[in-house]
Amino acid sequence: MRIDVVSIFPEYLAPLELSLIGKARQDGLLELNVHALRDFTTDRHRTVDDTPYGGGAGMVMKPEPWAQALATVAAAAGEATAKPVLIVPSPAGERFTQATAHELAGEDRLVFACGRYEGIDERVMEWAAEHFTVRPMSLGDYVLNGGEVAVLAMVEAIGRLLPGVVGNPESLVEESHSDGLLEYPVYTKPSSWRDRDVPAVLLSGNHGKIAQWRRHEQYRRTAERRPDLLEEFDAGKLPRADRTAFADLGYDVVDGHLKRRADAGGDSA
Ligand code: SAM
Repeated sequence: MRIDVVSIFPEYLAPLELSLIGKARQDGLLELNVHALRDFTTDRHRTVDDTPYGGGAGMVMKPEPWAQALATVAAAAGEATAKPVLIVPSPAGERFTQATAHELAGEDRLVFACGRYEGIDERVMEWAAEHFTVRPMSLGDYVLNGGEVAVLAMVEAIGRLLPGVVGNPESLVEESHSDGLLEYPVYTKPSSWRDRDVPAVLLSGNHGKIAQWRRHEQYRRTAERRPDLLEEFDAGKLPRADRTAFADLGYDVVDGHLKRRADAGGDSA
């Protein structure tokens, strides 16, 4: 996969030289290029922003430096058949999820356009649609100062799904959100620490019981912390013990879906 990132703060992306993503780049599993938006300006002050039409607070990123930068990056795509995907981080974009990360990990080329100030002139998105598949994308329902932090998070989430990046691919399967649930709690040595013991089942050596305990802990944790995820969970093929675990948490299986019982206590209604 090739990734290009355009930003007015290219140094902000330096962490992508570290850890698993840095190693993936060294190993040739991922090509990642960072471009300085100001290199695509033509005035003496290397201006990238101007006041908003219609008035209001803040500044807006000018369209032409973006068009120059993105045209250069698009040209570098060479003979690629599909349009590269242009991800524009924005709190007004579609939500970036683990499913999105999986989807984007299947692309050959991704380009990230890091906005700053009040964002990028909207016409850039219309123009860019001729050269890219444009996807405004949000990290979550809060506002950051710029797109760089969002790009760090998205590139890490996507990059670790590329074949060979994470040493043991099994660890990708058991994680939070891989099956629509949160991950179970994890423990390491010592088995007793500051008067707290690791759950006995994990020391039992009984792999069937350990797997069941972990599944039930996923259900408990998800019901407590993210009950919204259970609305989408496919409960149609759950074994009886798992239905009982959900019943204890206040959920019945109705037509393959989990329904919170009206008489169930707690806050996760
Ligand atoms: N005025 C914009 C709005 O209300 O939608 C927010 C602009 S924000 C201060 C500046 C830049 O930070 C955005 O252009 C975007 O690149 C990035 N950004 C802020 N919050 C984000 C989020 N939740 N997800 C992804 N990018 C975000």
